[in-house]
Amino acid sequence: MRNAATQSQANDSHSGLTERLARWATRFGGKADEAAEESVSARTPPGKTFNREVDRRRQLYQDIGAFLFAHDLDLTPLNFGVAHDYLTGNDHGIEKAVAAVLSERGKITNSWVESVVASAPNKDVTADTLHDMLSKVEDNLNQFTGLVDDSRNSAKDYGAALQEQVRDLSDEAKAEPVLGRLITLTRNMVEKTRQVESQMRESAKQTKALQQSLESARRAAEQDHLTGLPNRRAFEATLTAETLKAQNCREPLSVAFCDIDHFKLVNDSHGHETGDRVLKFVSGLLAKISGDKCHVARHGGEEFVMLFRGKTAAEACEMVDAARADLSQRSLVNRATGERMDRITFSAGVANVLAYDDPRAALKAADRALYLAKEHGRNRVYLAAEVEA
Ligand code: GH3
Ligand code: MG
Ligand code: MG
Repeated sequence: MRNAATQSQANDSHSGLTERLARWATRFGGKADEAAEESVSARTPPGKTFNREVDRRRQLYQDIGAFLFAHDLDLTPLNFGVAHDYLTGNDHGIEKAVAAVLSERGKITNSWVESVVASAPNKDVTADTLHDMLSKVEDNLNQFTGLVDDSRNSAKDYGAALQEQVRDLSDEAKAEPVLGRLITLTRNMVEKTRQVESQMRESAKQTKALQQSLESARRAAEQDHLTGLPNRRAFEATLTAETLKAQNCREPLSVAFCDIDHFKLVNDSHGHETGDRVLKFVSGLLAKISGDKCHVARHGGEEFVMLFRGKTAAEACEMVDAARADLSQRSLVNRATGERMDRITFSAGVANVLAYDDPRAALKAADRALYLAKEHGRNRVYLAAEVEA
């Protein structure tokens, strides 16, 4: 564990990037030095720390272009989307479909992209939209349950009042047959009221059961299917809530961003199923430190985030580093082939959440520290600088 975000390290990364951009510019026929100089200065304000995000986007943009031209695909949003999902691993279904068709035919076409996108399930409907829908249905049900409770109470009151009248009437009405009929009528009404009351009780029971199913559906929407950990959306909600709590109670709060090293190689050498098992293994290992003080989630792909309540960034760094050391000493075996795998490691960046304007900025700082950990050799945990250089 080291404090990494120093100016000299930032400068190292800076010159590494300059070289890469120079190569990029040459490949696209520009004037290498000038293009590199321009891109870097346009992107990096003087004195600003190197931004991993921009570098990643630039590389991805280049890879997407290369992919589209290699397969002679039209420059349509659909093709861009598929190339993006394939190259980032963003959509596992698309990634698998592209990998399969490439190994079968070596090439993909415009019409193939259209058909694969048309047959893919619409993920948007299952995440945020589902969450909104569930909240609305739940609100309606809450209202309905309230109504049922109210009506049940008034039905009860009505029943009790009628019963009282029947008692009064039956004393005075011995001689009067009209009153006798009235008593019978009233008794029938009391009986009907009882029936309605029991129907309402039954429907209230059903409503409550429905609310419970909705609650479990909501939990499922906030859970990552592969690892069983909370997903990114659930994590973001927790991060916001915990930041408010920590600010109010003046308690430390730290966030860690972990990313498995060279995970693409695991997939490439052992296949996606083994890759999935490795992801589950790593998530299980990280989840071991989860508890009252630590919340672990899958941020996406091979990235995990951890939130440490009541822990300073240095303390959190130590805990993440212990998990890192633990993983790096294990030697995993590919269950499918019995083959021993190369060591699996992860890199991480840790930040003090309350040192930034908002939790998103803290997460970004942790991500930048993670980037430096990668740049400096991987399998290490770095603490984010609290003040931008
Ligand atoms: P680095 O050390 O720089 O992080 O390299 P990397 O190979 O880990 O990073 P990169 O972003 O290049 O590749 C991440 C890969 O993770 C791409 C994608 O195929 C894979 N991946 C993402 N989600 C899943 C998943 O759910 N299952 C499997 N098996 N692979 C996944
Ligand atoms: Mg990654
Ligand atoms: Mg990785």
